[in-house]
Amino acid sequence: MPATPAKLNAFPVFMRVDERMVVIVGGAAEALAKARLLSQSRASLRIVADRPSPELADFAAVNGAELVTGPYARSSLEGAALVFAASGDEALDRQISEDARALGIPVNAVDRPELCDFYTPALVNRAPVCVAIGTEGAAPVLAQSIRARIEQMLSPSLGSLATLAAGFRGAVERLLPKGGERRRFWADFFAGAPAREMEVGSLEDARAAAAELLLRRAAANGHVALVGAGPGAEDLLTLRAHRLLNEADAIVHDALVPEAVIAMGRRDAERLPVGKRKGCHSKSQAEINDLLVSLAGQGKRVVRLKSGDPLVFGRAGEEMQALRDAGISYEVVPGVTAAFAAAADFELPLTLRGVTSSMVFTTGHDLKGESLPDWARLAISGATVAVYMGRSVAAEVAARLTAAGLASDTAVAVVENASLGTRRLLHGTLADLPSLQQRDDLGGPVMTIIGDAVAGANFTRSQPLASYAAGRASARQEQQA
Ligand code: SAH
Repeated sequence: MPATPAKLNAFPVFMRVDERMVVIVGGAAEALAKARLLSQSRASLRIVADRPSPELADFAAVNGAELVTGPYARSSLEGAALVFAASGDEALDRQISEDARALGIPVNAVDRPELCDFYTPALVNRAPVCVAIGTEGAAPVLAQSIRARIEQMLSPSLGSLATLAAGFRGAVERLLPKGGERRRFWADFFAGAPAREMEVGSLEDARAAAAELLLRRAAANGHVALVGAGPGAEDLLTLRAHRLLNEADAIVHDALVPEAVIAMGRRDAERLPVGKRKGCHSKSQAEINDLLVSLAGQGKRVVRLKSGDPLVFGRAGEEMQALRDAGISYEVVPGVTAAFAAAADFELPLTLRGVTSSMVFTTGHDLKGESLPDWARLAISGATVAVYMGRSVAAEVAARLTAAGLASDTAVAVVENASLGTRRLLHGTLADLPSLQQRDDLGGPVMTIIGDAVAGANFTRSQPLASYAAGRASARQEQQA
């Protein structure tokens, strides 16, 4: 055997012919053979023959091929993806080949390799699976004998099995981690129960066997869904979050997620609170990561429930990394983030035509140090700024933004307990914002939105931020008096 294989003169490719036309010129047995071959594809066929044989005419009628009778004309090739010259007449085949080449269409001339741009292989058809055997015209009989051997090797149901596999791909990618787990699943799919059921004849049984195989694999592995619980109102939960909660074996949730949302989970699911309310971290992030890995490692379906959207100030990045490192499959389900809920409560347009076209999600906790964070520059250029976890640093946020050049009369909207019945709306300007920090009447989570777009909000249900400071001052005066 040579160390390096000899080079091919013809390189095999699979050409798309669905919704395209293939022209065969010829009226006898060669033309019929090509027509039979091509009828295994979805190409539409045009057969051009001066005097078609009765068999060829029959074939055309039965297979819905277009039959053009009369002397060959170059115009009958126009628009074709491929042309076959099978007239049996050397001069005519040469003419057809030249015409096709002039039109830029690849051509095959039966038994005349010098006139061919491509050769047709012997086919083992298990659509969408196909084995094509070519010998560059050197040994057609060899190609046929190889074809016969491969025909025997491949089950007639292989194509249906491949089609079924295509339908399962999305679910497999969702439920099984990349790499060994998926490869083993597909190996079992093509060699195990699904393949056997397909062979015995029932697509439905094969589908059921594949679903069972997938669920068994997924269950053995465990799976974590990082799910956004929304801002608090149960009916702002997504339908997908609801379904996953109903399927969960364990629900690992933050302190901000209300009891009513957790209660929507499967009744006998384990419920594991993991903090973190401000000031009392019941578990460190590393402990939470370990908990998720260990629950999934026991084969459990875990819902990691986070307030709002899991990818917004939710430390989901670290949890996903830990799951990837441990080879555990996971998915992310978005939720309504607090900024959106607060804006909805305030009827506040976050983007406003002609006023602001960008938006910043930020936290006041990156204001330490000398350099101004980038978001402050964005605020000055007119972006709407949503400040998460901003209550205890309200004075700092206001001072920094003012020092950076944001007008102190820029509008500010504050929502406590957005989306909940207990919500409170406050409005004011950047100059009023520091008062937020001193208030002891705000026990719930607070969202602050700053920017010119805030001026478009509905202020009929909100209290002025300034009145609290003023109220406190007059209360003190009364006490002193
Ligand atoms: N992943 C969450 C944010 C977590 S950080 C989300 O996408 O919403 C926690 C901060 O979110 C709180 O300090 C508060 O600023 C904000 N927040 C969460 N729920 C809120 C609510 N119902 N009303 C107002 N702010 C809320």
